[in-house]
This record gives sequence, C-alpha cells and structure tokens, in this order.
Amino acid sequence: MLTLDQVKLKSHKRLIGLHPVLKAAMEALIERSYARGVNIVITQGLRTIEEQNALYAQGRTKPGPIVTNAKGGTSYHNFGLAIDFALLLPDGKQVSWDLKRDGDGDKVADWSEVVQEAKALGFEWGGDFVSIKDAPHFQMTFGLRTSQLRAGKEPTAAQVKAAYAKIDKCKGEADEVKKDVPVSVIVNGKKVADGVADNGVTYTPARAVAEALGATVDYDAKSKTMTITSKGAK
Ligand SMILES: [Zn+2]
Repeated sequence: MLTLDQVKLKSHKRLIGLHPVLKAAMEALIERSYARGVNIVITQGLRTIEEQNALYAQGRTKPGPIVTNAKGGTSYHNFGLAIDFALLLPDGKQVSWDLKRDGDGDKVADWSEVVQEAKALGFEWGGDFVSIKDAPHFQMTFGLRTSQLRAGKEPTAAQVKAAYAKIDKCKGEADEVKKDVPVSVIVNGKKVADGVADNGVTYTPARAVAEALGATVDYDAKSKTMTITSKGAK
C-alpha cells in the first residue's frame, strides 16, 4: 500500500504555478481522497499560454489528434486555476481514467468519491460542463471569465479568504470524524468501559480494563505512574 507521502510526491511538481488557493485545495483533495481509500495524481496543473497554443495547434496546423478546443489564454489552466487528475493505481506508477473503477471496493466509484470531495472543497467539476464534458478537470474561477483574467483581473481578497475558509472547514470536519469514534470496551463478555478510537489507537480507562481482568491497579501521583499487577505476578 502506498503511503500518503508517496501519493503526494507524485503530484508535487504539478502544484507549482497553481494559484495558492488551488494548491491548498488540491493538497486537501489528495489527503481526503487518500483517507477514503482513493489515490489520485495531478496530470496537469498550470499550462502556459504558449503551451496551450502548441496544444491547440495539434490536429489543426500540426500533426496528431485534436485534444483541446481552447486557444492560449482561454483555458483556466493558463492562469493556475484548473487541474486535471487521474486515479493512481496501487503500483504507484500507472494511472486510470476509468470512471467506474471501484479500487477500494466500497461500492462507490472512486472517481465519484474524488468529485464529491472536490466539490466540498469548492471546485467546479468539468463533468458538469454543459458543452464538452471534461471528467478529469477541476477549476475555481472566482466568477472571472478567462478574458478578464487575460486582462489581469484577479480574485478579490474576500474571495480568496472565503475559499480558504471552505478548505479549512472541510479539513476540520475530516479531523473530527477521525477523532471521535466511540468504542465499547468488552472484557470477557462484559462491557467495562467506553473508549474513543483515534487514528488506530483506542483510548479507554486503564483501571476499568485492568480490574476487569483481575489485576490490581496502583497510581503514584508523584511520579505519575500507573502500576498494573496481574493476579499471581510479583
Ligand atoms: Zn483541465
């Protein structure tokens, strides 16, 4: 299984040149997807206007198939306000654009899980576009048209602040969900305490559990030490 760091490293370079809000949102999206059992990789981040023009030429004045209908300066990618993603397969190398794939076996398509998380973080999804659907594409436009961006217009400070707040709220909720998982602690068939599971560790009153197992418990306040001695031990 890939670690979160390994997954993040795959997209590291593609975060360069993105608007800081999109960078933060993408980092959160990679983390939130990972937490749901879905690994993603950014396949396209910032695309300069020159790169966009070269891409537009493909299939028109240059050989190859047509891959875009956007001339340089007419794509949100040109302003660091869009990304394209793909699913990262378990080998950490291959990617997939299979919209139906359910790699984590939770009966929800991985792609849909990512889209759901992305929308919560404030992204618009290319799959919702009316004209040409673009399933790997996420963008944040801040209500600006590309013509306005070309003219040098930028998101307002208030818009940026609101976008960050949305991202932070999502991250906060994710932490809460992870933290407060109530756990019943049962010893030899009898419930002895309530606990809380946090990130794979269960916290529960040690005394209740130890005594239920027939051990004696001493606590020394001075050295802040709890000593548990099981029956028959010296
Ligand atoms: Zn795109």
